[in-house]
Amino acid sequence: MSREKSEAAFAQAVKRMPGGVNSPARAFGAVGGTPLVIDHAQGAYLYDLDGNRYIDYIGSWGPMILGHAHPEVLDAVRSAAGRGTSFGAPTEAETELARLIIDAVPSVEKVRLVNSGTEATMSAIRLARGFTGRDRIVKFAGNYHGHVDSLLVAAGSSAATLAVPDSPGVTAGASADTLVLAYNDPAGLEKAFAAQGSQIAAVIVEPIVGNMGCVVPTEDFLQALRGETAAHGALLIYDEVMTGFRVAYGGAQALQAVRPDLTTLGKIVGGGLPVGAYGGRAEIMDNVLPVGKVFQAGTLSGNPLATAAGIATLRHLRDRPPYQQLEALGARLEAGLRQAALEAQVKHSVARVGSMLTLFFHPQPVVDWQTAAGCDTQAFARFFWKMIDQGVYLPCSQYEAMFISAAHTEADIDATVAAARQALNAR
Ligand SMILES: *Cc1c(COP(=O)(O)O)cnc(C)c1O
Repeated sequence: MSREKSEAAFAQAVKRMPGGVNSPARAFGAVGGTPLVIDHAQGAYLYDLDGNRYIDYIGSWGPMILGHAHPEVLDAVRSAAGRGTSFGAPTEAETELARLIIDAVPSVEKVRLVNSGTEATMSAIRLARGFTGRDRIVKFAGNYHGHVDSLLVAAGSSAATLAVPDSPGVTAGASADTLVLAYNDPAGLEKAFAAQGSQIAAVIVEPIVGNMGCVVPTEDFLQALRGETAAHGALLIYDEVMTGFRVAYGGAQALQAVRPDLTTLGKIVGGGLPVGAYGGRAEIMDNVLPVGKVFQAGTLSGNPLATAAGIATLRHLRDRPPYQQLEALGARLEAGLRQAALEAQVKHSVARVGSMLTLFFHPQPVVDWQTAAGCDTQAFARFFWKMIDQGVYLPCSQYEAMFISAAHTEADIDATVAAARQALNAR
């Protein structure tokens, strides 16, 4: 498998962009070697510049739940582009995307569209602070909420991979009001609220974690999140940028009993174009300008191309839901990977919710950042490259979840399991 063209192209990129990339997660920092430069993608497959085909388990880090270059999404984008790409004035498409989100996500009554997940969480935090008149925010170690200054403490995702949870450039002031607690630790949460409850504006949480690998919350933890925030007048923010429309049409909250006050969305909601959204109870959302006083704006927010891709994706997910099929494919992949790891005597655990899955090189289940940090990341890196060599493109970090799309077939899953068996045996 030649990768000459990728290597030449990436050498050009490195000269002109920091690390050759526009987002650090793409840089292969955790696995070493040169990133593949992608030429195009179709369905479940990525094609690099050298013409190699890979079964893709990144799905652009979450958005591509229908697979790449889906005809309905492409048609919608083409048709929108022909009518102009941005007006800076209201469109019906924005209301339609808002309606689809509100109809799907149980706790959302009103929504504001933005341009990325980062923008959504940043705005939700500001709104929570404005609404409650309080400063303090609680987040959990290993959860990632985008590159918002106040949330870049003990962040997961590429922040965890690069071991720079506290980024230079984030002032002490920006993170001084951020309290970092352990995930899945109701007692720790209760203690924090007992001590500082009256100062806490909000708790922001990934209701199913994707950004330290896939980590599933306990029922006790979810109940404590709702109970403590409600008892102390703080808001509960579910960051569903990854889980929204991924684990279920209505997101993680559709699978769980708990209803958050605010929800942030991104990724799938934009169908592969840049979109984010935050929403919640109307009483809270109406504190945003121009109804309320909390400032938040965006030149390209709700722009016609992104809304077209989002609407086409959500309509497809609503009218022909792939979630049963994704669950079946996910279960097949999980079983295959477990079996392969067992046969190869690799210490491992697997976490999965529907089409979100992580094979941890860790003998115990990963429940929080402390256990996640104990993974054998060297073993993961070797596994990653052995999979690439067999045409399987995994997320290039132990701390990122694999995503299956509706374009994946049982044959793709079986080929992936066969490759994993080889890779794990050849360690
Ligand atoms: C990806 C992600 C974000 C950030 O979204 P961007 O569009 O990359 O800014 C925030 N929260 C979660 C849970 C994410 O997975």
